[in-house]
Amino acid sequence: MKREIVIFGHPALRKRATGVDCVDAARKRLADDMLETMYEANGLGLAAQQVDETHSLCVVDVPAELDVLLPDGPRLNPAVVMPLIMFNPEIVARAGSEALTDEGCLSFPKMYAPVLRAGVVTVRFLNFRGQVQTCEVRGLMARAVQHEIDHLAGVLFVDHVAAADREALDAQLKEMERLGRGKTG
Ligand SMILES: [Zn+2]
Repeated sequence: MKREIVIFGHPALRKRATGVDCVDAARKRLADDMLETMYEANGLGLAAQQVDETHSLCVVDVPAELDVLLPDGPRLNPAVVMPLIMFNPEIVARAGSEALTDEGCLSFPKMYAPVLRAGVVTVRFLNFRGQVQTCEVRGLMARAVQHEIDHLAGVLFVDHVAAADREALDAQLKEMERLGRGKTG
């Protein structure tokens, strides 16, 4: 079932997620709903807070054609099976050089701003079957994983935008916040 995505200003986006002790049927259903919602919105990732839930759960799906450094180049993460459904995800290692790239978020319609992220991260989580899984991801997939895990701590991508770039976004953010607050989602 598709859920409504809450917009910046909605209090759910600033809540810290609660860890899950097991992956039961209701949580699997939530993961399925989140995937459906993310695909419908053409997003690469979605965190539970964005559908007004508080479980520590996020999903990521970077399509093969975007999992490259250059168009038609080799895949950066050929061994990582999409989608990633991650309960209690935790970044256990960061590596690679950091990259400053424009980022967006389904809770910030039509807003993009440069964010510095680690190029390679290792993430540990409970997968859809409730098993502990660890995987190393790079490039855009690493960016998406860092972005979604931030959401679970109530941290939003605009929090990472440098002050000089943030100024340009302020008017747009204020308007979004006003609309987002009014929305019960
Ligand atoms: Zn986001």
